[in-house]
Amino acid sequence: MNETIDINSKLLWERAKSGYLSLLQSDDEKSQVERYFSMITSVTRKGNVFVIMTSNAYAADFLKIQYASKLKSCLNMAGGATDLDIEFKLDETARPAIVMPDIQKSGTARTERISTFSSTMPLNEEYTFDEFVRGPSNSWALAAAQGVVANPGKSGYNPLFIHGGTGLGKTHLMQAIGNELRRKNPQLAICYLTAETFLNEYVNALKNTQAESFRNRYRNIDLLMVDDVQFLQKGKQFQEEFFNTFNALQQAHKQIVMTSDVAPKNLPLIEERLISRFEGGMVQEIESPNYETRLAILKKKSEGMTPPIPDNALEYIADNIKSHVRAMEGALRKVSIFRTMDPATHLSKEILSRLLSDFIEKENNFKKLTIDEIQSTVAKKYSVDISQILSMERTQSLVTPRQLAMYIARKFTPKGLPEIAEQFKKTHSTVLHGVKTIEKRLDVEEDLKASLEEILSELGCKLSDKIY
Ligand code: ADP
Ligand code: MG
Repeated sequence: MNETIDINSKLLWERAKSGYLSLLQSDDEKSQVERYFSMITSVTRKGNVFVIMTSNAYAADFLKIQYASKLKSCLNMAGGATDLDIEFKLDETARPAIVMPDIQKSGTARTERISTFSSTMPLNEEYTFDEFVRGPSNSWALAAAQGVVANPGKSGYNPLFIHGGTGLGKTHLMQAIGNELRRKNPQLAICYLTAETFLNEYVNALKNTQAESFRNRYRNIDLLMVDDVQFLQKGKQFQEEFFNTFNALQQAHKQIVMTSDVAPKNLPLIEERLISRFEGGMVQEIESPNYETRLAILKKKSEGMTPPIPDNALEYIADNIKSHVRAMEGALRKVSIFRTMDPATHLSKEILSRLLSDFIEKENNFKKLTIDEIQSTVAKKYSVDISQILSMERTQSLVTPRQLAMYIARKFTPKGLPEIAEQFKKTHSTVLHGVKTIEKRLDVEEDLKASLEEILSELGCKLSDKIY
């Protein structure tokens, strides 16, 4: 018999949520899920039904489709009854974080009340210009973002396209634009969402024959921010829709801001006419920060931490963790927790290096792994020649190692698609296709996963070192 522990719903929810988050592998996935979870306003339990209230209807639908069954098992594991059902409901009393255009009969009426179709994801209020540290790696992108705030919709800055590696501040900068414009004019219709969400929503609208209301919704926005547009590569039909939305907004002098991990020209699966639209405004790159900027970011992020983090610890982190601002933040959090638990111990180099060994190991792998090394290790494992991996031959005994090597290069190194494609002597889309194929196969083929693990360990890293 299953025994049910009766704990209050909030606690049960907190446990289930952290259980679920701990199962996720990548930081990006975690932050995406956290963003959705932040739309949950309250939880209650009515008999056998666990009711999750959300701040907008779209979140309720999305959470239901994507997470209901996973959350149900996590609730069980956290101590909920095994026959517990989950329901997602719109919390009518929730205040909107952002004013959205309402889809009323007129199609253009604007209201303070959040529309039931509202699709925007909440902005992180901490992502402001004040919190963004300027340095040579990001000063152009920052200036462009401030230009947008000064003149939203103005042609030279519309669209603004920010690109750069993961964890370098693209989302922060984009949301700073939203936060600042909202502060200046709370009536502005602002919409922030990831390209993936945008695409999912379009697919849902088509399913429910609501393409028309989808279209109207996005044409009545003053500021549209689409994060991680590299994901648009997945949907051909959607690209057409996006193109039309894009033109309509631009013609009405509405501002569009986008981010991506690569420059527009390196988005091989996106139609040429969209690329040229993306390039038609201002394109700016954010690069990895130098030592001074890293230290300044750490100082900023550590302001207000109690007990305070000593300078030598901040310098140690800035010295050893160079590639991601996000990883620097993780290291800082770890030091801060250690300080809270043990404020008396001096944070010597030895202690710091032990405390942060995970981060530093990851950083070293990140820097070290070369594509040559990946190709030769994979070739050896599959007893083929590197020249065969680089060839066009399509026999399965070559396709698997070739695609696996592409997958490792793409997921475990910070190298961009152009460089990977060049080193494999293939086109961008061949590389992307290879990576995708392996991703799918890894979900179902235990043998392939085992081979990947062996190869990674030979390369001196492990599955959890995956950075994208
Ligand atoms: P990206 O979208 O490029 O992957 P994010 O915008 O999510 O990166 O940034 C990751 C983290 O690093 C965020 O917490 C962000 O606040 C922080 N960050 C990045 N660059 C800066 C900067 N220049 N100043 C302050 N914080 C930064
Ligand atoms: Mg981002």
